[in-house]
Amino acid sequence: MTAAPHAPQSSSSAPLGKHGPLDAEGFRRAGHALVDWIAEYRTEIASRHVAALPEPGSIRAMLPEHAPERGEPMAEILADLDRVVMPGIVHWQHPGWFAYFPANSSYESILGELASAGLGVQGMLWSTSPACTELEIHVLDWLVAAMGLPRRFLSSGSGGGVLQDTASSAALVALVAARERATNFHSDAHGLSAQGRAITCYTSDQAHSSIEKAVRIAGIGREFLRLIPADSKGAMRVDLLEQEILRDRALGHLPAFVCATVGTTGVNAIDPVVDIAALCKTHGLWLHVDAAMSGTALLCEEFRPLQEGAEFADSWCFNPHKWMPVNFDCDVLWIASRAELVKALSVLPEYLRNNATDSGCVVDYRDWQIPLGRRFRALKLWFVLRSFGLGGLRAMVREHVEMAQDFAAKVRAQPQLELVVEPPLNLVCLAHRAGDEATQCLIDRVNADGRFFVSHCRFHGKLVLRVSIGALATTRAHVAALATLLLTEAQRV
Ligand SMILES: *Cc1c(COP(=O)(O)O)cnc(C)c1O
Repeated sequence: MTAAPHAPQSSSSAPLGKHGPLDAEGFRRAGHALVDWIAEYRTEIASRHVAALPEPGSIRAMLPEHAPERGEPMAEILADLDRVVMPGIVHWQHPGWFAYFPANSSYESILGELASAGLGVQGMLWSTSPACTELEIHVLDWLVAAMGLPRRFLSSGSGGGVLQDTASSAALVALVAARERATNFHSDAHGLSAQGRAITCYTSDQAHSSIEKAVRIAGIGREFLRLIPADSKGAMRVDLLEQEILRDRALGHLPAFVCATVGTTGVNAIDPVVDIAALCKTHGLWLHVDAAMSGTALLCEEFRPLQEGAEFADSWCFNPHKWMPVNFDCDVLWIASRAELVKALSVLPEYLRNNATDSGCVVDYRDWQIPLGRRFRALKLWFVLRSFGLGGLRAMVREHVEMAQDFAAKVRAQPQLELVVEPPLNLVCLAHRAGDEATQCLIDRVNADGRFFVSHCRFHGKLVLRVSIGALATTRAHVAALATLLLTEAQRV
């Protein structure tokens, strides 16, 4: 390494900085090789079996018993990606990925992730890297406008957005704020209940398991979570929600939190958020909206009805790390009153005090989340929004929805199959009319083929084959090939 012109005087010839075994040149070489490797993987991914699982333990069997004592060459480490890692990879970026949900990882987001690691900053305070905070605030304000969400979520008002790792964390953060508000920010002093009253929470029986987990972690307890039955379409029954709230009040409990889902995990059902919000208002409950999977659709005007009721929500979240092509992890949580959130989560030790924080002019995101430390997640979202453009993202969403609707039409026309619900967006839920056994057989045959991977759920007792159309690489030809296989097999099982 050559000395910089302004290098500090030093008696030894020690280099200016240390990096580790790889120097800058080595990093460049290995980095370029790794980028090539990723591009190569993505280019040939369609030829792979989507989800061929190895024998349990077979990946570990290829690893040495102990960590290496002496450092190894990076070339060997990279070569082991092919030898050790690839045999145990399920190809989520495969064009035949129709299982669970799309977990899109675009090239743009990979680059954003790399830039974030390259900078290696912590964004817990504004002052620990101002760009980390300001870019995040700004990009999340962009999304409020782009998705037609209410102005109350903008940072210019009393609200604002924050990136969480996952929708699970977003729900927990919202729930803790709800718990604190319901107990006048005194749950610390008096234990979880306010004057001996138990806090109660509500969500539908179709809600994601992360809501139950949040209720347990927040110390409220599973017994105080009411799972409200869903109607035939999978949406929360508001009449039953009201009954439960009234019953809990009569019992002397303290109803505090409702989570409505826009796009349930099982069948993509949409809860009636406006009606739920009215109840929350009457009874003073916190309304959290979980749009983890389907929120991305709001980019398109025609899907804006999905945000009805958002103007009454205390918090609203979605996962760009699902349908929007931002790689995991990236969840957006918007909050109507940032003051309530910060009051619920802020603890200020001396070592984090600084002038910018004391001035009150900056946002310190550590107070908007559970951990202290935070990565520069906004970079990958920014890269994706800029490279695709809102128009590009809208086109992607529309194409996926159209493909799903065309696919659903084929299912509708097939006498052996039925649509379990009418697909509102890009998730098609179907079953074999002959019953669960035939549906299971169909799932097994589709997945054994190797070109596709689908998953299942149970809905009102019935086994459902889910076809989630949203992987970035998926084209009409892939969906058509799946339809051909599925319709042919449906006649055989
Ligand atoms: C996927 C999903 C979640 C959980 O998402 P994570 O980000 O993995 O926590 C929660 N709610 C809904 C509706 C989902 O689809």
